[in-house]
Amino acid sequence: MTGDDRLHGAGCRVPEQDWARAIELISSAPEVALACHVSPDGDALGSMLATGMALRVLGKNVVASFGDQRFAVPRLLRFMPGQELLVEPAAYPESPALMVTFDASTVDRLGLLGDSAVKARELVVLDHHPSNTGFGTMGLIDPAAAATAVVAEELIHRLGVAVDRDMAVCLYTGLVTDTGSFRHASTTPAAHAMAGRLIATGLRTDEIARELWDRSPFGYLKVLGAALDRVVLERESAGGLGLVWTYVPRLDRASYGLPYDEVEGMIDVIRRTDEAEVAVVVKEDDEGALQVSTRSKGAVDVARACSALGGGGHSRAAGFTSHLPVEETMAALRGLLSATPEDVRDE
Ligand code: AMP
Ligand code: MN
Ligand code: MN
Repeated sequence: MTGDDRLHGAGCRVPEQDWARAIELISSAPEVALACHVSPDGDALGSMLATGMALRVLGKNVVASFGDQRFAVPRLLRFMPGQELLVEPAAYPESPALMVTFDASTVDRLGLLGDSAVKARELVVLDHHPSNTGFGTMGLIDPAAAATAVVAEELIHRLGVAVDRDMAVCLYTGLVTDTGSFRHASTTPAAHAMAGRLIATGLRTDEIARELWDRSPFGYLKVLGAALDRVVLERESAGGLGLVWTYVPRLDRASYGLPYDEVEGMIDVIRRTDEAEVAVVVKEDDEGALQVSTRSKGAVDVARACSALGGGGHSRAAGFTSHLPVEETMAALRGLLSATPEDVRDE
């Protein structure tokens, strides 16, 4: 093993025989179809686009997509390079010879592309969710990795492609979003070492941070104001550890022409509440379904509660979709939130 291999290996713990098989499958494929989870975040889209650009360097035919009914890259992520690889779900291969998925813990999380995944001859699954169901013909899954981008960086390295600045922007976006700007417990020395490698390609961390966190349309402030106005603190909930929650109806967004993805980060304002172990933001999407974001500070496993309601995620950051009214959705969630003794890892 060379020094360089050791550097990469420190951040990613996928068994060697799995790497060998994945590299063989991918290296010998002339065409690769990539997919990430619906409503893609920085890690899902970033690891997929970086891998797509690396496969293009190898001369492969690459298509990449995600299976949302309304196919659009969230405004926050439009700065990421490699988007010319994206195709609408309708143009995605029905039964790809080789399909690779990113940051999706279940087939359901692939939305409209779930059928292609089921019909793919080979399905390689890159992920870091402990709740990954083991779907696919093979997995490159590291539940200890801070982001799927960690696994993607290792894959690109093992494919023999040098990570260029564009790939680095995508991988860094995945790493910095899933570690909450290197604040979460997942921020290991390996995560910082990876950031160092990526920054060395010449990317601008200040520009990426501004795109991700320091800008929004004016309407965001008004919608945030309304959500803060209806925020509730329930000290007795979550096993007496406290629950803070609010709701963002689509009508609020419509009043200011604010797209759904602009309110994704609102949970980061709500979760600062000292008096609450668990924070929840219930967001009504454009179809009228409720997308529920949950966060805990470590004593409550929100992934367990969200999984019981058909969703999933990490112990400290999880979500689910509800088709019930807000109060019934919250009643169901409240009933599942209770303290757990084991201290659990973050994203
Ligand atoms: P979010 O609150 O949307 O930032 O999501 C937090 C975590 O929960 C992420 O790891 C997501 O992958 C996961 N998650 C969110 N919504 C769902 C869902 N409907 N089903 C499964 N996992 C979800
Ligand atoms: Mn994700
Ligand atoms: Mn992730």
